[in-house]
Amino acid sequence: MADYDLAIIGGGLNGVSIARDAAGRGLRVILLEQGDLGAGASQASPRLIHGDLQVLERRGLFRVRAALRERDTWLRTAPHLVRPMRFVIPAHSDERQPWVLRSWLLLYDRLAARPRLPASATIDITHHPVGNALKRPIGLAFEYSDCVVDDSRLVVLTAVDAAERGADIRTGARCVRADRLDSWRLVVIDRGHRRVVTARALVNASGAWTASVAETVLRMKPPEFGAVQISQIVVRRLFDTDNVYVFQNSDRRLIFASPYERDFTLIGTVGHAFKGDPAAVSMTSGDVGYLCDAANRYFRDRIELVDVIRTVSGANLVAGPARGRAARDGAMAFDRTRGKAPLLTIFGGDVTTARLRAERAVARLTPFYPMSPRWTARTPLPGGDFAWERFETEVDAAVARWRFLSEPQARRLVAAYGSRLAAILGDATERADLGPAFGPELTGAEVRHLMIREWARFPDDILWRRSKLGLTMPAADRDALAAFMAAKP
Ligand SMILES: Cc1cc2nc3c(=O)[nH]c(=O)nc-3n(C[C@H](O)[C@H](O)[C@H](O)COP(=O)(O)OP(=O)(O)OC[C@H]3O[C@@H](n4cnc5c(N)ncnc54)[C@H](O)[C@@H]3O)c2cc1C
Repeated sequence: MADYDLAIIGGGLNGVSIARDAAGRGLRVILLEQGDLGAGASQASPRLIHGDLQVLERRGLFRVRAALRERDTWLRTAPHLVRPMRFVIPAHSDERQPWVLRSWLLLYDRLAARPRLPASATIDITHHPVGNALKRPIGLAFEYSDCVVDDSRLVVLTAVDAAERGADIRTGARCVRADRLDSWRLVVIDRGHRRVVTARALVNASGAWTASVAETVLRMKPPEFGAVQISQIVVRRLFDTDNVYVFQNSDRRLIFASPYERDFTLIGTVGHAFKGDPAAVSMTSGDVGYLCDAANRYFRDRIELVDVIRTVSGANLVAGPARGRAARDGAMAFDRTRGKAPLLTIFGGDVTTARLRAERAVARLTPFYPMSPRWTARTPLPGGDFAWERFETEVDAAVARWRFLSEPQARRLVAAYGSRLAAILGDATERADLGPAFGPELTGAEVRHLMIREWARFPDDILWRRSKLGLTMPAADRDALAAFMAAKP
């Protein structure tokens, strides 16, 4: 008998979502990730949970409606990670006529499954706080509701849930060979050790590596799709309000500027074809300039190349035009050659529809195993068992219980761990109870939790994926963190 029902190559959002869905339906699952969870394209998403106005503009009514339903599902199941925000589009007639934009937004409101978020509105930004950061003479803007998400934590908490439902999540485990008989025989280099595992079915969810995994690991014909890279920049905070700005660029693309970790602004995205090693994807200075120019067209405070604090890039395969249908839905191919173990290949797609994509992927396997019914739309992710409207109440309760926490610290912790915060802070009455401090925010107790419960192995796993504390942590504290983690506390 095979060791597992399902083996998954790739611990990006697609891989972990399939692992969670399948484990919750009773399958014995192993997920193999060569590096850290979410270290590929899944940490470079625009961080939006949305219906996508650009899809609406391309007449994708049904896809927008389905995505808005998923937005609702995420608010219900991940209220700590997903934040409703008011998005602001300054209106001018250079790209789209204001009346056209307004009609799209009215339709967008109508398509929302349940109108729980406030409807769109027209605002006069010469007399509104959202206008303070913008250049004159833009006088009119439209406001609408959508959500932002912490994409890296979404990956990790999805994997935590999969593991709690029995999935074996292996990070630092590279699949180097897969032989297809009536079951799969995989050779894995697992943290330096060679290991062989067998599984009845295989999912190739290796993102931008999909073609090379197909060719060199599975020794099959690779999918003939090009890779595309997406990039964003992080700069100092450019505005004080808690809004996402949506700018119409001169090439008709929409550029988003979102609040990022209290003191920063994330601006993106820019994308183009990519060739090379996906692990080495990086942003060109031309792309940085493109995003600076887009922001400078609207914001009063100019930004130049030197103001860019960090760039975020990821690559994935895209079936079809990068901004078309496949970019949103991703691509899936199911190979069930007679007498051979099944193979599912999946790549791309956006964050909003990842849960649904995983549900559809696992449904392809139902003829092969007895499985319990679909379940992920109803079940919260770890720490997400509270109503999203109560987020601020959870923050207040954390400040009241752990009096040494400042309000911003409590907000970061609730956003990361939700109702499971006590698993880290326990009965601590002062900060010193939580072990050594690494910078003003991170404590030994949190690091230990991330290492034991969330597969963190190296400082970057914590500083850039399980949090974004790398943006503010001084170098001496990073060194201390590295030494603390190396000692395996
Ligand atoms: C061009 C582009 C546009 C995008 N547009 C959007 C958008 O509009 N909206 C949005 O929400 N998101 C967007 N995204 C990001 C989107 O979030 C990701 O594409 C999505 O998360 C799916 O990622 P994935 O799981 O397929 O791949 P990844 O996150 O890259 O995961 C693949 C994983 O497989 C692992 N792996 C590879 N080979 C092996 C092996 N041999 N053994 C073990 N592990 C292996 C890698 O280390 C990697 O972690 C875009 C991304 C790109 C690149």
